[in-house]
Amino acid sequence: MVLSLPSSVSSADAATEQPPGSWQRELAAAIRDPVELCRILGLDASVAAEAGGSAGGFPLLVPRSFVARMTPGDPRDPLLLQVLPRAAERVDVAGYVADPLREEEALAAPGLVKKYAGRALLLVTGGCAVNCRYCFRREFPYADNGATPAGMSEALRAIAADTSIREVILSGGDPLLLDDSRLERIVGEIVAVPTVRRLRIHTRLPIVLPSRVTPRLVQILGGTRLTTSVVVHANHPAELDAAVAGALADLAGAGVLLFNQSVLLSGVNDSVETLAALSERLLDLRVVPYYLHAPDRVRGTAHFDVPDQTAIGLHAGLKAVLPGYAVPRLVREVPGEVSKVWIG
Ligand SMILES: *Cc1c(COP(=O)(O)O)cnc(C)c1O
Ligand code: SF4
Repeated sequence: MVLSLPSSVSSADAATEQPPGSWQRELAAAIRDPVELCRILGLDASVAAEAGGSAGGFPLLVPRSFVARMTPGDPRDPLLLQVLPRAAERVDVAGYVADPLREEEALAAPGLVKKYAGRALLLVTGGCAVNCRYCFRREFPYADNGATPAGMSEALRAIAADTSIREVILSGGDPLLLDDSRLERIVGEIVAVPTVRRLRIHTRLPIVLPSRVTPRLVQILGGTRLTTSVVVHANHPAELDAAVAGALADLAGAGVLLFNQSVLLSGVNDSVETLAALSERLLDLRVVPYYLHAPDRVRGTAHFDVPDQTAIGLHAGLKAVLPGYAVPRLVREVPGEVSKVWIG
């Protein structure tokens, strides 16, 4: 029971009935204080004390509707573990560095990362609605690079000049933190480049703050000549509640292709049972499981790592119980490669 929380959206279509701006208010009310989080979840004060001393420059941040999906009283809750700072983050482990992906080397223009053929990442904001403890952003908020209007114009000119770019991927940070008007302008500028055929959005917002999927956003994404996909990021089936289902149904209904990427995280989703349940639930919501990422080797995240041999075993276990299209590709990002590297 989480009676002190505002009731989260509970009917499948309620996410579309909220007044404009409600997601911004929800975001402003997100939890940033470990003491408050522990009070809401009925957790011991020592958990909050550890969290308070461990966050470093990457503070606790989690929307209340996401907290409402956690099990009160369980310090090992798989959703809680993704957002709660822990003492293990302060342990330095050899091989874990600030910027393991060396993405600044691949900048084609401010905020434009072109590493792979035919597609380019446009970093439109450095912010997120949640601070995931395993994230590369924790050490290196490089995405702020291109988030200025001048940087954005330069990046869009670079996209138009490079006719090999057929797909533009909005990323960040979380691109859906931009409001609908700004997104509409950016999408409009991408649509105006005749050589671009596809738009992709990498976002965790439909999962952690499903009210972000406004009717206007659905119109913007569904209403262009581009083949548009949204790649969401869910790691555990308990993240996918009725409000999330409603948001995803709205996007799917507008003709947007839906994919999910997860990160394989020790203590969160490192079992065949959990990963299979996640894939099954995603398929129910018309989302294709796309990638299962080995975490990037970012300083402060070593405690989330699953050994490659274990990961390969889990992946084999998934193949044995799921249709092939429901088995995500097990990958790692390796600087200098022409694509993500398939493990195993
Ligand atoms: C992951 C990534 C992509 C997308 O790769 P896909 O295999 O097409 O999903 C594109 N650009 C960069 C820089 C990336 O990191
Ligand atoms: S939502 Fe994505 S980019 Fe943002 S903190 Fe979480 S993992 Fe990192």
